[in-house]
Amino acid sequence: MSKNVKQFKTEVQHLLDLMIHSLYSNKDIFLREIIANAADAIDKARFEALTNKDINADWKVRIEIDKENNAIKVIDNGIGMTDEEVVDNIGTIAKSGTKAFMKAMEESSEADLPELIGQFGVGFYSSFMVADKVELVTRKVGETADKAVKWTSNGKESYELENVNKSEHGTTVTIFLNKEFSVYTEEYKIKTIIKKYSDYIEYPIEMPITKLDEEDEGKEIVADEIINSQKAIWLRNPSDVTEEEYRNFFEHLAHFGEPLRTMHYVAEGKTEFKALLYLPKTAPMQFYAPDPDARKHGLHLYVKRVFITDECKELIPEYLRFVKGVVDSSDLPLNVSREILQENALLGKIQSNVVRKILSELKKTKNNSFDEYYEFFKEFGKTLKEGIATDNANREKLQELLIFESMNTDATKMISFADYVQAMPESQKEIYYITGESRNMLENSPHLEQLKSKGYDVLFMTDPIDEWVVQHIHNYADKKLQAVGKGEIDLGDTAEVEEQNKEATEKHKTLLEYLQKTLDVKVKEVRFSKRLTDSACCLVADQYDPSAQMERIFKAMNQDLPESKRILELNANHPLVDALQGLYDANNENPVLGEYAEMIYDQAVLTEGGIINDPLKFTQRVSNLMVLGAKNKK
Ligand code: ADP
Repeated sequence: MSKNVKQFKTEVQHLLDLMIHSLYSNKDIFLREIIANAADAIDKARFEALTNKDINADWKVRIEIDKENNAIKVIDNGIGMTDEEVVDNIGTIAKSGTKAFMKAMEESSEADLPELIGQFGVGFYSSFMVADKVELVTRKVGETADKAVKWTSNGKESYELENVNKSEHGTTVTIFLNKEFSVYTEEYKIKTIIKKYSDYIEYPIEMPITKLDEEDEGKEIVADEIINSQKAIWLRNPSDVTEEEYRNFFEHLAHFGEPLRTMHYVAEGKTEFKALLYLPKTAPMQFYAPDPDARKHGLHLYVKRVFITDECKELIPEYLRFVKGVVDSSDLPLNVSREILQENALLGKIQSNVVRKILSELKKTKNNSFDEYYEFFKEFGKTLKEGIATDNANREKLQELLIFESMNTDATKMISFADYVQAMPESQKEIYYITGESRNMLENSPHLEQLKSKGYDVLFMTDPIDEWVVQHIHNYADKKLQAVGKGEIDLGDTAEVEEQNKEATEKHKTLLEYLQKTLDVKVKEVRFSKRLTDSACCLVADQYDPSAQMERIFKAMNQDLPESKRILELNANHPLVDALQGLYDANNENPVLGEYAEMIYDQAVLTEGGIINDPLKFTQRVSNLMVLGAKNKK
């Protein structure tokens, strides 16, 4: 291959532009990113070496400062890249979906830069924050010396590829610094950055350091020194690890944000392993994106300090995918392949232990620091709720962790099932909930009227996933969960209302029959309600039919739920009932009656936030009524 100039993909150009003109103050992180890439590359080579005896090296990262050229070199003897891989990895942003990246970039500000760098796997480009030119020479493990590739770019529109020779496998990145950033050719500066960000990297990070030789009259000598302590943080004694070290390591794993809780422990007994797990404070931008890449989950797995994979799904269930961390097992065989991992029973045992630990940490946080838990739940509650449907064994524990808004609590607060039950008046028998799009819409639901007047609270379930959650939890503390918009609800002492409804049903028998007949295609039944105090009517679902919210969710997903007719409930105390009865008794063929029947139905649909079938017809009817009303007023 002779010299070959290639254009960067548009998104890379955008990104580079952002990097070059970045005012982001913490430029030091470029070195952290380049060293992290070097260590990852060694991880991969070392993993290959487990099954291929030909691969062997004194694994390390080396930093060299070249003051003359105002440059710094990061050298690794890791896996290296073929020329195709260089084009794929360094010329494009392949991983997390270009579209998502472009969007995030457009919406982002300077402050978001580290997040962008971390989340989209664009660490390499961060070197352009400080560089005028970057050169990368790489040789893939298993390739011959003459198959190495040199990549060069000034970070503008294009990069250059050239075939070169390289005696060892691995990669050398040379960053030619902008003169403004020559501070990165100072030994002390590089040392400080490595200590701060890369201390736990398990391979030695070696650098020639200039010293004064005390034995030889203070003559300057240069000798290689290992800068990092290399102590895998998870293998250290928790009492020896500082908060800052934990935080830095979290950043290394999560690429952004801060940990809310850190769990660092040794599991003994059936299986022995060391774990360092983090609950993050905030969800990264792409956490809820539909992009499957953004749903990646897993912990880093090490076997006796040897890196195996950074995405071990068998260690943690998907609904806990917000957890970051490392597990180091001494019981797994070292030559474990990724395929074997899927079938290993030991991993299942580790997973149960890890899940237990996480759920108990969450419980502790909820009980002892509710405000923090509330913030956490707003970020990750949706994900946690998936566990209710998927993790039978831990469903009860998970149920304890759920919190919801409720009718009687402020909009900025949430309560748990335990809080709810504790506040229940004695006469209340069931736990009431209502599902819908927003608190605003639910607060005004006619379904709540009777409950309000009795002082009962109602949980507001406003996440679409809540519809599925309630299908998996039928009760809490022996109290049944009851949707307020479903079935015949038992409000406790309701003898009076029942008596009233019985009388009304007899008195308005003909009207009920008429409405039932007229609305037959739409409703299953017309009856008097135990729920209403003020509104004239509402729609309820039969106990086992899907709720209105469930139907809306399915529609939004373009999926049809089999039509299920609902029940129209009327308020026996509302003057509308007597008025309609009067109209019916006067002339049961009056066409206005049919119009009114349709309007009652549409009203009920509107009050629950639904969309009526024929809005034009509805408004025509309302206008007609207004005309009538206005005439009568004269
Ligand atoms: P990330 O490391 O987050 O994936 P980068 O932009 O830093 O994103 O790197 C992109 C890809 O380039 C890496 O995933 C890796 O495949 C490759 N790469 C970068 N540096 C090296 C290196 N020193 N050795 C081998 N491959 C590398």
